[in-house]
Amino acid sequence: MRYISRDTQATIDLNALVENYQYVASIAPQSNTIAVVKADAYGHDANLVAHALSPHVELFAVGFIDEALALRQSGIKNNILILEGPFKVSDFTIAHEHNFLLMLHSDYQIDWLLSHQPQLTQNIWLKVDTGMNRLGFAIDDIDNIISKLDTTTQQNLVLCSHFSTSEQITSRKPVEQLARLKPLVEKYSCQFSMANSAGIFNFPASHGDYTRLGLALYGISPTDNNLLTEQLNPVMTLQAKIIAIHQVEIGETVGYGDTWSATRTSKIATVAIGYADGYPRNAKSGTPVFINGRVVPIVGRVSMDMITVDVTDLTVVAVGDSVELWGKHISIDSVAKSSDTINYELLTRVSKRVPKVAA
Ligand code: PLP
Repeated sequence: MRYISRDTQATIDLNALVENYQYVASIAPQSNTIAVVKADAYGHDANLVAHALSPHVELFAVGFIDEALALRQSGIKNNILILEGPFKVSDFTIAHEHNFLLMLHSDYQIDWLLSHQPQLTQNIWLKVDTGMNRLGFAIDDIDNIISKLDTTTQQNLVLCSHFSTSEQITSRKPVEQLARLKPLVEKYSCQFSMANSAGIFNFPASHGDYTRLGLALYGISPTDNNLLTEQLNPVMTLQAKIIAIHQVEIGETVGYGDTWSATRTSKIATVAIGYADGYPRNAKSGTPVFINGRVVPIVGRVSMDMITVDVTDLTVVAVGDSVELWGKHISIDSVAKSSDTINYELLTRVSKRVPKVAA
């Protein structure tokens, strides 16, 4: 049992998680909604998340075999799709033993498949490069790849692709990408999977047979289309406690580098979370936190274990009070914006020092 001295923690709201899943699935009712739980379920603890979703979800997706194995070993029986691996030929043996589904993107993987586990061609997902230019077979190579696979099993073939700009509702690129994939889907009368979270909300034509739901599952809007996303609820709330309070006089500075100085007599609270916990070191003075019902700004630089917050305007504040860094009251997007990063990076960087606690 882990001993916890410091009350810095990420609470994981499993009811919100399941409700988000059900809500987004209802937007694409003809599709099977895959829950993407790679990168430790976007930092939410894949074990907690997968067990909560397991009765509601048919299929999980992870990045590579190690992540899928960890889920199996924790007792997850659902199908698991590997999005980016296999990276080694031995991955095919493990995939066969544990019944993992594989999304293949390169010739070397097809060669490994045919030479080591040809029976896995029964259920192959092929990634097609429709314009992301990161992973996937060129459109012109697909005929050749499919002819290499057992043609009698084509009914189980799933053709997949990934959007590069689906969060931009006015972008033409997703429409073009879909238009490149669809002729292949028609030619082979197979299933397809294209939409990530933003695709689900912004481009209904891309829903296809399987959507791949990541960010929105965790309650974060992938689009500015607020009408559709206001029902999402953040699953993670990152919290820490005030461990000291100081009075700072006009002109005095706070923290490393003296980047902030008081323009009035100020009350500064020191909070037990820092960049070693995954709070972004880039967060600028002014980044919001939530204490005792009010939004207040961090001031000075983020340290390894601590941040400092201007609590002068709070009438009630004391050592031991709880501080929300992001979650129900502070949108992770506001923290990402003032740290020059994105919500995905913040979520996945919450470090092992921070216990994830089901709420
Ligand atoms: N599909 C693939 C191949 C991905 O790599 C990802 C995430 O990076 C997703 C789906 C889920 O995307 P999102 O989190 O934007 O829903």
